[in-house]
Amino acid sequence: MRRVVILGGGTAGTLLANSLDHARFDVTVLSRSSEHLFQPALLYVALAHADPRIVRDERRLLSRRVKLVQEQVERVDLLARRVHARGAFHDYDALVVATGARADPSQIPGLSEVAARFGNYHSGVAPAQKLWAALDAFRGGTIAVGQASPICVCPPSPLEGVLLIDRLLRRRGLRDRSRLVFFTPHPRAYPAEAIDEIVAPLLKARGIELRTFFDVDRVDPKSWAIGSIEGERIDCDLPVIVPPFAGAEIAYEPASVLDDDRFVHADRNSLRIPGVLGAFAVGDAADLPTSKAGAGAHLQAMVVAEQLAGREATFDGRTHCAVDLADGTGTFVVSSYASPAVRYPPSRLKHLMKMLMGRVYWLSLSGRFEPLFDRYFHWTAPERLGASALRHAEKAAARSGS
Ligand SMILES: Cc1cc2nc3c(=O)[nH]c(=O)nc-3n(C[C@H](O)[C@H](O)[C@H](O)COP(=O)(O)OP(=O)(O)OC[C@H]3O[C@@H](n4cnc5c(N)ncnc54)[C@H](O)[C@@H]3O)c2cc1C
Repeated sequence: MRRVVILGGGTAGTLLANSLDHARFDVTVLSRSSEHLFQPALLYVALAHADPRIVRDERRLLSRRVKLVQEQVERVDLLARRVHARGAFHDYDALVVATGARADPSQIPGLSEVAARFGNYHSGVAPAQKLWAALDAFRGGTIAVGQASPICVCPPSPLEGVLLIDRLLRRRGLRDRSRLVFFTPHPRAYPAEAIDEIVAPLLKARGIELRTFFDVDRVDPKSWAIGSIEGERIDCDLPVIVPPFAGAEIAYEPASVLDDDRFVHADRNSLRIPGVLGAFAVGDAADLPTSKAGAGAHLQAMVVAEQLAGREATFDGRTHCAVDLADGTGTFVVSSYASPAVRYPPSRLKHLMKMLMGRVYWLSLSGRFEPLFDRYFHWTAPERLGASALRHAEKAAARSGS
């Protein structure tokens, strides 16, 4: 039997492990944690005091025929096809790197102090609860929300953060005593134009100040003032900062497979690690030119499953990120390498879908519902949605006589 070793038991690693033919492959998942966290729910733990029980036992999510080894991987020799974990090594015929991305506040002076004092919603349940405690205690002043670097796991999450905080302050009658600032390194509120057209007016209507081209350089750990590379400054009482991200602290041989942020190079279509045999990188761990998000991790895992089964499959760069607009409606960022994000009108149904994502997520990891996901992703392909949006716009223009 061919030995497949998967590094990381998160979204991509778990789905892939369950989707392989266990009669043909001897599948081992190496993961440093025995727990599996549903990361999107961190947003609501931190900003809406949601139930923090968003973690499940990884063993129970994996097929009984998959071996789970709880170990921290330290070194991978891609030439000798050997993985070194703490205290043991594992040889493989095929390797899949799915170790995700880790929030790394240490990259920016003062950000570790921000994380220690106020927490954040990208590092786990405890930091998310810490942020909720800070928001719960807030009685007025300035809250600055934004991302510290252009690489962000779930790109809409900083925007969702500021919109949910605005909603919280309104519900508590604190909005007229508070200033809300949203900062971003991008030239507009959301990098994709079609999504910006939806969210920029929302920020304006809700009185949220927008600071673009703001690349965080440092945070003053005494005053919490946020400074930018461009020399600007935001004074605030409560900084809610999405930290920079980096790949796992694993040494690779050859080291050239890593980029400067420790993400693993992968061919954007085949997901193979260039220059070595039998190795792939998927999900947030890979340096692909697409968003780091769960839907991409899901689709990439299935592309690798197909390839390992000997069938042709390529990844088309597809994104499908749900966005909570904090007014009972939502939208999705839907794009691919070939198609920029389409304008997908906000609706209550899309918000409901985001709310149901938690339940669907745990079921999706089994791989048993792939035919349904296939259809869903097919019917919501950006080319299809783009054409339908165009037809709607033309009909509306015809009705209004323009
Ligand atoms: C606040 C927030 C909101 C989000 N919202 C959405 C959303 O609405 N929609 C969406 O699609 N996505 C969303 N995401 C993103 C989504 O959760 C991730 O993109 C997805 O989980 C990535 O999957 P992955 O398998 O690549 O990595 P992960 O799921 O992070 O798994 C990585 C695994 O690798 C293991 N690991 C790491 N280092 C090592 C090591 N050295 N040795 C062994 N094991 C290791 C970890 O323990 C973990 O099991 C959100 C994320 C956050 C933080």
